[in-house]
Amino acid sequence: MLEMSRRTVLGSAAAAVAFGLASKLEMSVPAFAAPADEPAIGFYRYHVGDIEVTAIYDGIWRKPHDPAFIKNASIEETKAALAKANLPTEFMPIPLTVLVLKVGGRLIAMDAGSGVGQWQANATHLPGNMAAAGIDHKKIDAVMISHFHPDHVWGLMEKGTNELVFPNAELVVQAAEYNWWTEPGRIEKLAQGRRPAGKRIADVFPKWKNWKLVEDGAEVAPGIELISAPGHTPGHSTYLVSSGSHQLLVSADIMYVPALLAPHPEWQGSYDQDGPLAIASRRKMIDRVIADKIAICGSHFPFPGSGSFVKDGNAYAFAPTIQV
Ligand SMILES: [Zn+2]
Repeated sequence: MLEMSRRTVLGSAAAAVAFGLASKLEMSVPAFAAPADEPAIGFYRYHVGDIEVTAIYDGIWRKPHDPAFIKNASIEETKAALAKANLPTEFMPIPLTVLVLKVGGRLIAMDAGSGVGQWQANATHLPGNMAAAGIDHKKIDAVMISHFHPDHVWGLMEKGTNELVFPNAELVVQAAEYNWWTEPGRIEKLAQGRRPAGKRIADVFPKWKNWKLVEDGAEVAPGIELISAPGHTPGHSTYLVSSGSHQLLVSADIMYVPALLAPHPEWQGSYDQDGPLAIASRRKMIDRVIADKIAICGSHFPFPGSGSFVKDGNAYAFAPTIQV
């Protein structure tokens, strides 16, 4: 099983290079046999020009099928899309990957992960895999946050105490996202199901002193630009990472599960707060990465989360750069 995974990685290294991602075989192997829908390795390292990227596996949400998950598609249609992408159909597979970039001498996390069982009981792997990759969470200099959904920010804080997991990191987020969630009276305006998360954000985040609120287009680190892509949340942000002639768009949740949304970019997830705006942002960003030949990764793409899109009529086709 492990040998097969290694061969898969080796076989796809050429593909990674073709998309401008200089691939390097450096990975961790867990001591246990990984379930079939979880990767056999915990982290994967590649380069975007001079920037070192470590993609770290956090876990997977095996979400029970729910007719409300996609507002304008049936369970049968979502199952058919999964099957077409060779994914399991017994549940909705939502894996989670977090990137850590080494830019100059600085360590920059792209989102914070889901916080050891604070999102899903079996999404617990980030701290162990980060340590296995040789990354000390106390040495993370900055966290670039895409949006305030639990799978992206609960990893900022310890369960129970809400202590900072990255105590020395500046927390960078688009002002529109921070201000929306912490606005007085916000919790009461949230849908019932979102209120516990909204309350935790409102209670804890404003107490921290290490926030840096930025606007669309800000250069948040050398070679890293925040590009607003609202709809999923009001201040949902992507980050364009550039070094030399190489570029990678850290796209967070604009394409969510590409097996569903690449062939059906007009599908509206119940998780998209403003469905039509999310669709417009999705099309705008994916059209741009195709036109400009930019590599792309997404938080919920199959691990290690990078891939490429091509036009397919009025929709898209997705291919992972590598599969492990
Ligand atoms: Zn997410």
